[in-house]
Amino acid sequence: MRVKFKRITYIFIAAITFITTLHLGGSGDVVQAAPNVNMPGAIWYSNSNDVGFWPNNVHNAVVVYANRRTTNPNGHLHQFVDRINEANQVWRTALGINIVRTTNRSIANIIAYAGTRNEMRAILGAVGTTYWGFGAFNGPLHARVNIAGRERLVTRITTATAVHVDMPGMTLLQARQLVAHELGHTLGYDGHPTSGNVNNIMTQSSLGQGGLVVQPNEARHLRQIYNLFKRGAAVVYRAHVETTGWQGWQGCGQTGGTAGQRRQMEALQLQLHLHGIQGGIRYRAHVETIGWQPWVANGATAGTAGQARRMEAIQIELTGTVATRFHVEYRAHVENIGWQPWVRNGATAGTTGQWLQMEAIQIRLIPR
Ligand SMILES: [Zn+2]
Repeated sequence: MRVKFKRITYIFIAAITFITTLHLGGSGDVVQAAPNVNMPGAIWYSNSNDVGFWPNNVHNAVVVYANRRTTNPNGHLHQFVDRINEANQVWRTALGINIVRTTNRSIANIIAYAGTRNEMRAILGAVGTTYWGFGAFNGPLHARVNIAGRERLVTRITTATAVHVDMPGMTLLQARQLVAHELGHTLGYDGHPTSGNVNNIMTQSSLGQGGLVVQPNEARHLRQIYNLFKRGAAVVYRAHVETTGWQGWQGCGQTGGTAGQRRQMEALQLQLHLHGIQGGIRYRAHVETIGWQPWVANGATAGTAGQARRMEAIQIELTGTVATRFHVEYRAHVENIGWQPWVRNGATAGTTGQWLQMEAIQIRLIPR
């Protein structure tokens, strides 16, 4: 039996300022057993418990076909190829994956339509009376992932469709954001952000506000899924901080430790989550009065806990196959200096010999 798991997310706008969502899906199919993956430190930034990702394919890219049907030369969806190219760039930047447009529909992963409501109805049948567009993805359940204390369902996407309605009076900015928004859905962003940040691409009520940059929490929401299930690895970490001890796990470039509180970081633990790929992570800390400690790996403690000694610097490296697929990048927040530039793959973050405490760290994996 081929198990299907389906989610459809609509942008649904009944009036200029009235915006809501409608989710269709969970079509009664049985969800098959899928591996459970625990991801401490991962973040969730959607009102849905579903998410999807495009697996690796022969093109090593997500391929989008722009099917413009609109005959309205004055609408901002008339230059649909430009809109799609721009949306692809917005999400390439956010996710670090290849997203390209094709003129060959037969090799496309995502079919994106633009047209008047009647034109959309002629192609797709039921297209509601009010919404501006929707994006939907389909595919089998790939994993159950525990993130932020809840089980989330990860779909391995096999097909996706985006529809953009050429709304009368739509501004150029609304059209650009609409296409980026629906592309986000077809890349696996189900639901909408839990925050109403007007700069969000995936917040419906921000349509027409802000710009065309996927905001950090939106990017992390999908990027952590793509890094783990498409690319094979994600990193999480937690810091031991003066007077408060071990913090919670962080990931995806979030801040471990504290910035701007003048509290020293004393220890750090790092873990890799791997999916179909071998390897590990090793790291060593430079500690007050001790200097460089021996390398430790895969969740062990670097630095000291309970000795009130400041960490001053750290080096981090990937080992095994994962090192051939990712860079590990990190940066330190240092007393009197603030955030230093990002460094990668074993270089030193922080300082040595200057008696300056490390206060915070951010770590991320970048696909090679
Ligand atoms: Zn939406």
